[in-house]
Amino acid sequence: MRVSLKAVIMGLGTVVLAAGIVSSLAAVKVYADRPEMTTYYNGFLYGLGWSPDIEDNNRCEAPAGSYVTSMKVSLTNQPEHMTGTIAYQVNVSGLGWQDWVENGMEAGEAQGELPLEAIRVKLTGDLAGAYDVYYRVLQSGVWTQWSKNEETAGVEDQGLRIDGIRMSIVKKGGEVPQEPKELVPTRPMIALTFDDGPRASVTERILNSLEENGGRATFFMVGNRVPGAAATVKRMVAGGNEVGNHTYDHKYLTDMSDAEIRSNLGRASQTIVNAGGVFPTLMRPTGGYYHTASLSTLRSMGMSAVMWSIDTLDWKHRSAKKTIDTVLSQVKDGDIILMHDIYHTTADAAEILIPELTARGYQLVTVSELANARGGMKPGVVYSGFGP
Ligand code: ZN
Repeated sequence: MRVSLKAVIMGLGTVVLAAGIVSSLAAVKVYADRPEMTTYYNGFLYGLGWSPDIEDNNRCEAPAGSYVTSMKVSLTNQPEHMTGTIAYQVNVSGLGWQDWVENGMEAGEAQGELPLEAIRVKLTGDLAGAYDVYYRVLQSGVWTQWSKNEETAGVEDQGLRIDGIRMSIVKKGGEVPQEPKELVPTRPMIALTFDDGPRASVTERILNSLEENGGRATFFMVGNRVPGAAATVKRMVAGGNEVGNHTYDHKYLTDMSDAEIRSNLGRASQTIVNAGGVFPTLMRPTGGYYHTASLSTLRSMGMSAVMWSIDTLDWKHRSAKKTIDTVLSQVKDGDIILMHDIYHTTADAAEILIPELTARGYQLVTVSELANARGGMKPGVVYSGFGP
């Protein structure tokens, strides 16, 4: 089996594999609930070399044809008053369990060809009483269940090799690590945006679907509708979605003076802060109308205006099918898609679109995440998409 594996590596060439690993590991991580202390780790990937530093809870994974022969684990932000460190040992194929090593030291044989079969990790000193360390490995194409605090992860003595490692530190007694909201800048991404809500009975359906599919969206809310759906806004924020401003009462920017825009948008933002604890930096011009004067007001308020590249016209036809067809026939990397979370037909469409777009390889991200991956945004500027 190892012979054929080697042949695969020879055939593909390490340069190609090396390029592949670098791009697939270049991810931006967003942590909703990160403890102050975390791990980072490296695996030595056979035929390729050491992986880049992998941040807590992310996958260190060998591409096809490679596997892990050695690993290093380190801690960041260790509380100064706490003794102890992170310790780990590996089971090397044919050699069995190796000695425990600590913080940043190598476990395994980077220069060797023998794969790891299993690992154990533990915290020592005061740290062991305050945190749990969780870890899992990729073996035979499947990630094992989480093991923790010195338990064995991986099956030993069965000729199975470790192809990936993932690890995370959690405060003592906390829940097992959740999937990180991981954004890969080189993969296609789009921003679904929903205007005119919140309307709990519709918005919650969209949030359910986003949650089930690991996606996020941006909600441009009408300020006066926010207090009646505060719990929905809270949930939006907790799920990593972006809250945006769509004026307090759905008024056109072009119908307001500088002072009126300040007071209207300010009031809307305040309702959003009160409900969700987050201050919006993006606004969507009502009806899509703006002019030079209103943009200069937005600039002085530190806000950007977000338009769209796909208009579903969901408010007009109220047909889930038309919304779905419009999106699926036009969608491309960097799109901002306009919908309205006040119609059940839009929720019907979202429940189909969210899994379908995800299955087509699109990362469903917020407008700010999309912008940050593609050069960022400036206040007072209008954005309607972020194509590559
Ligand atoms: Zn609107």
